[in-house]
Amino acid sequence: MILGGHNSIKGGLHNAAIEAASIGGETMQIFCKSQRQWKAKPIEPEQAALFREEVARAGLERVMVHDSYLINMGTPDDAKRENAYQAFATELERCEALGAAYLNFHPGSHTHPSKPMRDDKAEREACLDRIAACMTRALDDFPDGKTMLVIENAAGQGTNVGSTWAEVGYLADAVGDERRVGVCVDTQHAWAAGYDWVDDYDAVWDDFDGQVGLRRLVAFHLNDSKQPLGARVDRHDNIPTGHLGEAFWRTLMTDGRFSGAAGYLETPLEDGDVGTYKRELAYLRALRDGTEAALPSLQAA
Ligand SMILES: [Zn+2]
Ligand SMILES: [Zn+2]
Repeated sequence: MILGGHNSIKGGLHNAAIEAASIGGETMQIFCKSQRQWKAKPIEPEQAALFREEVARAGLERVMVHDSYLINMGTPDDAKRENAYQAFATELERCEALGAAYLNFHPGSHTHPSKPMRDDKAEREACLDRIAACMTRALDDFPDGKTMLVIENAAGQGTNVGSTWAEVGYLADAVGDERRVGVCVDTQHAWAAGYDWVDDYDAVWDDFDGQVGLRRLVAFHLNDSKQPLGARVDRHDNIPTGHLGEAFWRTLMTDGRFSGAAGYLETPLEDGDVGTYKRELAYLRALRDGTEAALPSLQAA
């Protein structure tokens, strides 16, 4: 697996690549605009060129853009969904300008206000159908697009959909285009959604392969969990000191099926400092490469 973190675009998009290089990233994830705003100025050609230059200098492969958390293409409200789609299309346009390999997004939520409807199958599938229609529209609106739309599994908070492999597979199948649609597995979200990586690693993957297909898996969000199995709460923890723990990370890092995938840390930064990523990347790389003996202990940290 090629490994990186989530890097900051503060002061300019290209700064993320400089930061990625400083922590030993082999790849990186970024937001390509402010997360609190719907609108963004278009990316100027010089900005894009500078970004690509720094990405090449840092030797980063497969840059992933994470879309804005404000976007919910699953909403049943037509006007809100149109806004969400327009914002998503803007993200995709920016990804294409930057040469990003992946546009990662949380599928969305059905927003039904009645609690007993939270897990209603028809309600959830109708939501997935709306998201699939938006994804199909995006692919049609960018017919020559190179950036892959990457569905991230959800932890299952609130009325979020895409928290089971069945739902992720349903969504991917509904769009169909296997060349331009992929899947990112967030290890914390899956655990919080009830997938027991720790005691049932092989069974979880067999289930994933049946419902989604390993061929669709292109990336990971590498997060340990502050929450217990099945809590349906999205709370990332540092690696390997959360509920997932070292044995899980070793198994994942040495799983040959994922040697070609990209993995991105989204773990909490101590004092906002990317030194946390640097340590965790060194740790994961050592597990991956079998050079753990040379590692300063993270367990004690
Ligand atoms: Zn994630
Ligand atoms: Zn999360």
